[in-house]
Amino acid sequence: MILILKSGVTQEQIDHVIERVESMGFAAHLSRGTYRTIIGIIGDEDKTRVAPLRAIAGVADVLPVLPPYKLASREAHPQDSVIQVGSTSVGGGHLAMIAGPCSVEEPERMDRIADSIKASGANILRGGAFKPRTSPYAFQGLGEEGLKILRATGDRYQLPVVTEVTDPRNVALIADYADMLQIGARNMQNFVLLTEVGRTSKPVLLKRGMSATVSDLLMCAEYILSQGNSQVVLCERGVRGFDSATRNLFDVAAVALVKQLSHLPIIVDPSHATGRPDLIPACALAGLAAGADGVHIEVHDCPEEAKSDGPQALLPEQYHELMQQMKAVASVLHKQVAA
Ligand code: PEP
Ligand code: MN
Repeated sequence: MILILKSGVTQEQIDHVIERVESMGFAAHLSRGTYRTIIGIIGDEDKTRVAPLRAIAGVADVLPVLPPYKLASREAHPQDSVIQVGSTSVGGGHLAMIAGPCSVEEPERMDRIADSIKASGANILRGGAFKPRTSPYAFQGLGEEGLKILRATGDRYQLPVVTEVTDPRNVALIADYADMLQIGARNMQNFVLLTEVGRTSKPVLLKRGMSATVSDLLMCAEYILSQGNSQVVLCERGVRGFDSATRNLFDVAAVALVKQLSHLPIIVDPSHATGRPDLIPACALAGLAAGADGVHIEVHDCPEEAKSDGPQALLPEQYHELMQQMKAVASVLHKQVAA
């Protein structure tokens, strides 16, 4: 940690800063420049971080040397993490191809969708049983019945399943059925929920909040990791922009940036990022080119009958065509889409 002192700081203030730093158990290293004086603090940065150093008179700024997300950082773990979701590996060159309807629907429809996405090359089935809806009057999901349908479909087609958990009270129930727990954008900073999924042994798909910075996302991953669950996959699903032409603003640079900052896999969700089937293929391919470890896409066999997010769903044949293109990009990048 480095303290930058204010210009015109008095000797008395400098002495006081050093005294405070030493009284907290850290060593202080003073360096006087022509215009500014700085003090380097030597000690455990986690402890210095929580100290209210900026409140000391004469201190202009406090600059951390290490990122605040210690466990999620690439510094802590230089190799790419590979996360196991049932039989599917994610990260380190293995792509997660997650597909399925927004909400779990009736078993026959789930079968049709699972059958088609599996044939196209998807390796994880998705579907929400507990839906976080903007309106309390919108379809809220089938609940436990939906979990049973999703599990049965996944088993029938030998696809691991991911579904969203919206409430800390449901974590144990959902962990009984799902291979992976999704934390949605609206809950990214629900710290109680993050702590709860961090206590399970299930991999977690953590979606970026719609107004979250990359650092916020990594700090939320840190919540899960700090509870002992090291199986976190991040997801860029677009952030709120000013232009309603697309549902959200797909932040493809965030993918490349996260790959630098963290060892955790990151996938892209062009369905929620764009909200437009015509733009999903371009963003899926761009995400892979930026280094994404997978692509999450909503697929429905009859979007006009979908219980949620129908307008953004790809038809099975559109998904099939996109998968051919994604596999071509994957092979150029020497990445694999494992069955
Ligand atoms: C979803 O996956 O259907 C969903 C609600 O996603 P998000 O949290 O990204 O909006
Ligand atoms: Mn959706």
